[in-house]
Amino acid sequence: MDINDKEAVYGSNFINTFIEEDLEDTSKVVTRFPPEPNGYLHIGHAKSVCLNFGLAKQYGGICNLRFDDTNPAKEDVEFVNSIQEDIKWLGFDWGDRLYFASSYFDKMYEYAVELIKKGLAFVCDMSAEEVKLSRGTLTEPGTESPCRNRSIEENLDLFERMKNGEFADGEKTLRAKIDMASPNINMRDPVIYRIAHATHHATGDKWCIYPMYDYAHPVEDAIEGVTHSICTMEFEDHRPLYDWVVNNIDFPVKPRQIEFAKLNLENTIMGKRYLRNLVETNQVDGWDDPRLITLSGIRRRGYTPESIRNFCAMVGVAKANSIVDLAQLEYCVREDLQPRCPVIMAVLDPVKLIIDNYPEGKTELLEVENHPKNEDMGKRMVPFSRELYIEREDFMEDPPKKFFRLALGKEVRLKGAYFVTCTDVVKDSSGKITEIHCTYDPATKSGLNFTARKVKGTIHWVNCESAVEISVNLYENLVVPDENSDNGFSLNPDSLKTVKAYAEPSIKGTDKMDRFQFMRNGYFIADSKHFTDENMVFNRIVSLKSSFKPNK
Ligand code: ATP
Ligand code: MG
Repeated sequence: MDINDKEAVYGSNFINTFIEEDLEDTSKVVTRFPPEPNGYLHIGHAKSVCLNFGLAKQYGGICNLRFDDTNPAKEDVEFVNSIQEDIKWLGFDWGDRLYFASSYFDKMYEYAVELIKKGLAFVCDMSAEEVKLSRGTLTEPGTESPCRNRSIEENLDLFERMKNGEFADGEKTLRAKIDMASPNINMRDPVIYRIAHATHHATGDKWCIYPMYDYAHPVEDAIEGVTHSICTMEFEDHRPLYDWVVNNIDFPVKPRQIEFAKLNLENTIMGKRYLRNLVETNQVDGWDDPRLITLSGIRRRGYTPESIRNFCAMVGVAKANSIVDLAQLEYCVREDLQPRCPVIMAVLDPVKLIIDNYPEGKTELLEVENHPKNEDMGKRMVPFSRELYIEREDFMEDPPKKFFRLALGKEVRLKGAYFVTCTDVVKDSSGKITEIHCTYDPATKSGLNFTARKVKGTIHWVNCESAVEISVNLYENLVVPDENSDNGFSLNPDSLKTVKAYAEPSIKGTDKMDRFQFMRNGYFIADSKHFTDENMVFNRIVSLKSSFKPNK
């Protein structure tokens, strides 16, 4: 998919309709991606990134990157950096519009004063517990705070003293004065400022009062001139409050909040808290562990930004929650890798194949194409001799009817080489097969257009003498369903299996992040963290088999 293609990034959906309804000149659209810098981005965030930046691109508008750092949490430079890296990797650009919500604290304070002056906010002495108890229920109205009718002067004085640090945490709050009988509980005089004597990573000790999300977010959007503030469905019930803030403060641009359903992936946990725990307790190899669904994880796994963008476009944008099949993501990855990866041979579970009638000591170089569908990718020479490795599973002693690979007396094609017929097997004392013997027919050499007889199966192989030992990481889902666990999942003990494998010599010279198809075994990438010339570590990106069928 071309990222510059107008409709390509996200197709067309109800958000397009809203934007076109609202703006005469759609090139004036301003969106934002507002991550909280408290973790790495995951594939769910990618959906929001593609949507926000995609819409801006589609209309020739702009999308800001705004770190939502209104909580005085600990400094997270690592997250601020990784988030930027991941968005760039996905192919998007915020130009010079990198913003931090904390830089708006002064303005947020002034706007809160504006609300007080308009009689729309008051300082409340109730504790968090009391506020909660007075809020009412879905069927009963809440009760008004005894502080609700304080004079504007008193509120201004108290709010300033809150700012000046005269009160302890929790002693007072600033609340919007809306309607304790509103059917929407979010509108029942919500707290918009709280006291927290905490050091903020950007503003230090300047502030001891911090704005609440429902107040801060619309203010941030309005300050930046955001026209469409796209968020996930859980904020739908907060929209009346969003609108209240935007409409009761004198902003030139009134942003419109639009909600869409989060991306959920089958058998996947995306919550930052969960991911963070896995990383901090070393249950995975960092935030970029290839089994994680973080963007840095799937990048190291070998997924491409194109495949993620395609996936997001394919899943589309909706209001209804759904769970997307992982097979759909893998389908998008395969579709993108198929044309671009050279195909070479590597044997992951080797057993020796000995060709008894092939001359000892002889090695010939066979010409094999680098891609079955793309001649432009050229050819390479692959050494062939009497002793080869093949996959253990490509031989069966008692084959079922439709087994078209090797079995005693059966003939197969060795990719790019000859037909061989199995004659014998050698086993060790435990009964494990150690050697498979066969004979070859020189007339069947690849390229000679041999037609006298046909074989159904073609298997891959690696020449023993020149084989390069590599280390291959094979993956399964990181978590498996588990009824007895709090979140419904537990770690899959088989999520990572590392095997020693043999690859053909053309693998020498590979660089970190180079991708291949290992014939019949899937797509692989040289690991960005642990790959060296001496220890060639490859990660399986995805296998070749797909259970997903797109509706075309
Ligand atoms: P988490 O639930 O993993 O902690 P979050 O929603 O708290 O994530 P934020 O940093 O606040 O993380 O998210 C930034 C943006 O990404 C928000 O606008 C949020 O709505 C969006 N987002 C987060 N998760 C998803 C998801 N699964 N699908 C689509 N958008 C998402
Ligand atoms: Mg959030």
